[in-house]
Amino acid sequence: MSDIDDLRPAISPPVAIPPTYVEAAAVAETDRDPAASAPPPDMEISPRRFGRVAFAHPAEAEFARLLDFYRVRWDYEPTSFPLRWDAGRLVEAFTPDFFLPEHDLYVELTTMKQSLVTRKHRKLRHMREVHPDIRVVLLTRRDYDELLAGMGYGAVNITSLPESDIERVLFSPVEIADRVAELGAEISADYADRSLVLIGLLKGVTFFLADLARAVTRPLAIDFLAVAARTDTNDEPVRLSTSLDLDIRGQHVLMIEDITTTGLTLDFVLRRLRALEPASLEVCVLFDKRERRLIDLPVRYTGFSVPNAFVVGYGLDYRQLYRNLPFLCVLKPEVYARDHAAALSEINRADYTRAHQGGLDCE
Ligand code: 5GP
Ligand code: MG
Repeated sequence: MSDIDDLRPAISPPVAIPPTYVEAAAVAETDRDPAASAPPPDMEISPRRFGRVAFAHPAEAEFARLLDFYRVRWDYEPTSFPLRWDAGRLVEAFTPDFFLPEHDLYVELTTMKQSLVTRKHRKLRHMREVHPDIRVVLLTRRDYDELLAGMGYGAVNITSLPESDIERVLFSPVEIADRVAELGAEISADYADRSLVLIGLLKGVTFFLADLARAVTRPLAIDFLAVAARTDTNDEPVRLSTSLDLDIRGQHVLMIEDITTTGLTLDFVLRRLRALEPASLEVCVLFDKRERRLIDLPVRYTGFSVPNAFVVGYGLDYRQLYRNLPFLCVLKPEVYARDHAAALSEINRADYTRAHQGGLDCE
C-alpha cells in the first residue's frame, strides 16, 4: 500500500508542508544523479543487516560495507521527504541514500563531478529549509575519505593493524557505549544508598573503567591492582604486582574487569580482596567468554557475552597492541599462526644455541 495516497488529503499545498515522511517507493524520484539512474547489471548486494539491498551506485555499496564493518546500523533509502508541490501534486522529493538510526542521521553520498555536487548542495539547502528538524549530511568524495580515517581507520594505522587482519567486529563503539551506559545506570540504582570503591585490574580495564565510572552517578573512589605477567623464564605462581592505595575494609567494593575467560585471574584477585574485609564485594565484567570458564565466579554485572575467540580492542591487547581500537574485534587466526610460527622458530633457534653453548649434549 502506498502511504502517499493516505497523505494527500492532509496536504494543503503549496503553503503548508507537513513534516511527515512518505515511503521511498511511493514517491517520484527527481533527485537521482543521471549517471546513477540505471542500476548497473551487476548490482552490488549488501552482505548483511537489512537483507539484500540493490544499490544504485557502487560507492553506496562501499559505504554500506564500511558501516557494516563498524557495525553501525543503517537503512538504505528508507524515506522520501516531500520538497515541492505543484497544483496539489508532489513534484519534487528528496530521498537520502542512508539513514543511521543510532545517530538519527541521514547521509547523502555523492562521488559525482563538481557540477552535480553544486546541484546536490542546493537540494540539501532546500531540504533543510523545508524539514529543519531532520539531520542530513552530504558526503563528497573528499569528505568520504576523511570519514574513513575518522571512523577508526586512522587508529588501525596507528596500531599497524591492517584491516585484513580483522576477522570481524563484534561490538561497535556505539554498541559498547550504550551497554556501558546501561551498566552504569544499573550500578547507580543498586548502590543508591551507598558510595563505592571501583577496583580495576590493569591494564586493559582502564578504557572500560574510565567510561563506566562516568556513567555511575554515586560517589566513588577508584583504585587499581595488577597481576604479574606470566613469563616463560620463571615459574613463580600468580601474584599481585601492585597493592591497593586505599583501605577497603568496611567499603563496598566493585571489582571491574575487561574480560574474563577461565576465571582463574579474577578468582585469585577476589580471594585477596576478601581477606581485606570489605563490607561487600561484587564483580563487573565487560566481556564474558563464558564458554571457556573453568572457575565459577560470582559475576554480578556482565556487559556482553563473547564467543570463544581471541578478541582485541577497547583496551584488550595482543602483544600490547590494538588497545586503542574503539571497537571489539576478532583477529584472524592467521595473525597468531604467523606470529606463533615466528616465535617457535625463535625458541628453536635459542634452544639450539643454548644447547651448544652449555654443552647439554654431554649428558
Ligand atoms: P582468565 O584468567 O579469566 O582466563 O583470563 C584473564 C586474562 O586473560 C584477562 O584479564 C585478559 O587479560 C586475558 N584474556 C582472556 N581472553 C582474552 C581475549 O580474548 N583477548 C585478550 N586480548 N585478552 C584475553
Ligand atoms: Mg585483563
